[in-house]
Formats: sequence, C-alpha cells, structure tokens
Amino acid sequence: MSAAPGLFAQHLASGSRLASGIDALLEPGVDLEALAVRAREVTLQRFGRAVRLFAPLYVSNACLSSCTYCGFSKGLDVARRTLTVDQVVEEASALVDKGFRHLLLVSGEHRIEVSADYLVSCVEALRGLVPSIAIETQTWSDDTYTRLVDAGLEGVVHYQETYDRTRYAETHVAGWKRDYDRRLASTERAAEAGVRRLGVGALLGLSADWRADVATVAEHAVWLQRHYWRTEVTVSLPRIKPSASGFQPLVPVSDAEYVQALSALRVVAPEAGIVLSTREPAVLRDGLVRIAVTHMSAGSSTEPGGYLHPGEAQEQFAVSDERSPAEVATMLKAAGYDPVWKDSFALK
Ligand code: SF4
Repeated sequence: MSAAPGLFAQHLASGSRLASGIDALLEPGVDLEALAVRAREVTLQRFGRAVRLFAPLYVSNACLSSCTYCGFSKGLDVARRTLTVDQVVEEASALVDKGFRHLLLVSGEHRIEVSADYLVSCVEALRGLVPSIAIETQTWSDDTYTRLVDAGLEGVVHYQETYDRTRYAETHVAGWKRDYDRRLASTERAAEAGVRRLGVGALLGLSADWRADVATVAEHAVWLQRHYWRTEVTVSLPRIKPSASGFQPLVPVSDAEYVQALSALRVVAPEAGIVLSTREPAVLRDGLVRIAVTHMSAGSSTEPGGYLHPGEAQEQFAVSDERSPAEVATMLKAAGYDPVWKDSFALK
C-alpha cells in the first residue's frame, strides 16, 4: 500500500511557491557569469570561506529495490557485500586517520541485511569515534528514526532523484523505493524524530526536464527550513554517472548548465548547504567551490569495504575526482578556503 502524501507533497500540490524566482534563473540564455558572481557573493556572505569535508562509508550494496539507473539494483549480477559492524568501524577508523570527522553511512535498500537494528548498532559503534554521523539508506518509520537519533545519528539524506511522478514510476520499478510519497515525506519524519541535518536532492539526467527538478529541490530545501527551523538543510544535484546498470541519462546536463543550476540554487536558497560529490571532475569541483559549494566529499570509495579492501564488491558509480582528502584540502587552502573536517552543530 502506498503512503499518504506528506506535508511537502501537499504544499507542492497547492501550487504555492517559496522559491519561485528560480525559474527565471534557470532559463536558457541567462547571463551565467553575472549569476555566478551573485551566487559567489551570497555564499561568502552566508558561509564565509568554510568548506566542510565528509566521506561516504558504504556499508552494503545489497538491495531489494530495482532502480533502472543504479549499479546496486536488485536484478543485477554484481558482487554484493554487507560489512559487519566491526568492519564498519575498521573502515571508519581508516577515514578518521585521513582526517574525517563527518561520515555518511550509505547502503542499498535491503531490510534484512541492512536492518534498523544493524544501523542502530553501526551508529552506536561509531559515536565514540566520529562526532558527526549521517545516513543515506532506505527510508524508515518515525520509531526507527527516533532510535537512530538516540543512538547518536545527526543527519539523514534522502534524495527524491526526480520529483516528476511519471518519470519516478518509470525508473523506480520495484521495491520499497517505488513509493514516491513515502520517500518524499521521509525527511519530514526524520525531522520530527529529532534529526538535525537533512539532505535532499535530485539526480540530474533522470528526468528530461532537469530544470523542473532543480526548481523543486530548491522549493523542498526552503520549505524544510521554514518548517523545521532547528535543522540544517543541504541540497545536492548529482549528475548520472556510468554504473553497472548501463543507464544513459535522458538528457545530458552540460557543465555550463550545471554551474547555472548550482548558482540558481544558491541565490534562491541562501541558507542551504550545497553538497558536491566526487562524481564531478576535479577542475569543475575546484571552480564550483568558489561559487556555491559548501560541502564536499573527498577521496571517496563507492563500494562497501572499499577504503581498506578495494575491488572486492561492486561500486555504485565511478568517481571522477580521484584526489586524496589531503590533496583536496590543499587545493581549498590554496584557493583561500578553510577545509573543515568537523563543525559543531549550531542552531541558526
Ligand atoms: S538507488 Fe538505492 S534503492 Fe535503488 S537500486 Fe540503487 S541502492 Fe537500491
């Protein structure tokens, strides 16, 4: 049975908009240089020169959902692995040795191998090692989010991938993730349970109208900030990368269009952190950090166990920026920015 629409879904259906100005900024032919300059000013004013560094820690690539674009999709014959809690701690320790204090635990959607109990155990085991733990996993019930918060969880990331309901149904063909409304309401449930950092986003190239997805991500971020003012909200717009799924994006999003999308987001959602992963090439990341980006992953592996034992399991997607965390930190310092490995959570 599908979940009932949550509060943000009702807001979208009402037609009222908090970030309406973004449509003009996303038009083809906009003065991109002027937009980027404006975005840079907003970023410096709100966030200064601090760039927060984090690492994804893939705990499992087992998945019971079928998403047409993903290398972990249930039907794919790929090497699967779920780390034990001890192995998760070992991977985390390797990342701590590299300087990270903010980890994002990532998994496929497998309710048996990556159960609520397993995740709670992971968070409990890590809370003495790293001060900031977030998850990017399947969506959960209110009770599970509460258990995770009690265990020490700080952040939850749930990208909607595309806000276009028809395209969502075409690309999420089976499994828990197929329920559009359950997924869309998941950040609301997490916030109600006391999660203090929320991440939303869309996978650019999944829908033919990437501009509509960027506009709705902005609306989602601003709406969450208005409704859960104690939470910090971040947004991300990953572009589709090659994976074992063989999926090809419906439309390519050029580098210039990508800069436009992140700049427009920054202008209409000035309080939102903007996250950039190692999916993007180094030269583009180095440029975007000067315009809009406030959070970066670095030295990432997208396979479970990949920091200590690379090549033993299927990766989710190929990374483009293969620099080490230290190299990324050096780049940031050379550009006049402060790499922040762990910031204390502060209410805005
Ligand atoms: S996107 Fe997530 S739910 Fe879908 S196949 Fe990949 S890991 Fe599974």
